[in-house]
Amino acid sequence: MKCNVMGVAFDNVTMAEAIAAAKNMLTEGVHYCVTPNSEIVYEAMRDEALREMINGADLVLPDGAGVVLGAKILGTPLKEKVAGVDFADHLLAVLAETGGKLFLLGSKPGIAEMAAAEMQRRHEGLQICGMKDGYFTDDAEAVEAVNEACADVLFVCLGAPKQERFMVAHKNDLNVHLMIGLGGSLDAFAGTVKRAPKWMIACNLEWFYRLLQQPSRLGRMMRLPKFLWATVKARGKG
Ligand code: UDP
Repeated sequence: MKCNVMGVAFDNVTMAEAIAAAKNMLTEGVHYCVTPNSEIVYEAMRDEALREMINGADLVLPDGAGVVLGAKILGTPLKEKVAGVDFADHLLAVLAETGGKLFLLGSKPGIAEMAAAEMQRRHEGLQICGMKDGYFTDDAEAVEAVNEACADVLFVCLGAPKQERFMVAHKNDLNVHLMIGLGGSLDAFAGTVKRAPKWMIACNLEWFYRLLQQPSRLGRMMRLPKFLWATVKARGKG
């Protein structure tokens, strides 16, 4: 079931349901999944092209406490937050079990290699069939690299909206079953950007930890209160 949060149609699923849906997508066809946080929803409110790319995805997961709170304010609560990086980690377990092959695309040179080592340490048997940093100048280069590697799943970690554009533009060129836009997740797997401690995540303070780590994000993070205010106004208008 879909849940409309300021024009973005999220899938109202638990983590287990999201993984079950992703598993089904691995058997045939080409699918893409997006994981917008409140900053991206705020952008999508004003950018119709971005909104269409997000809403055209086969799975739209709420990455962040802000989206979950916004949905609650709007009176259409989501079941839970399904953070992109956690979703990715659960999917790695599925791939390790089924033998599915993964390609990592994005982040700065050297990061995907570090992320791959950590993923394989955590998930024995995981097959990572290729990787490429996200600073290519010609998309065709990246498409060719992915196709040559015969991947089943592609993690697209180019940041929003670049990753959404890439997935939509190349859906028909890529021989993969599932692509997932995962922002800075490779940095988190690699450990170059630390995730908040569990208690902070539980208290919905992950955004604050991220701000402390990367104060340069302050400008874009101001979209979070703006997004929440927009939901309050929308609720007020009914
Ligand atoms: N990135 C990339 N290519 C680009 C721009 C960004 O691969 O042209 C990567 C960047 O190195 C980082 C990720 O995209 O790993 C974006 O991370 P950010 O934390 O901004 O994304 P978020 O998780 O907030 O969407």
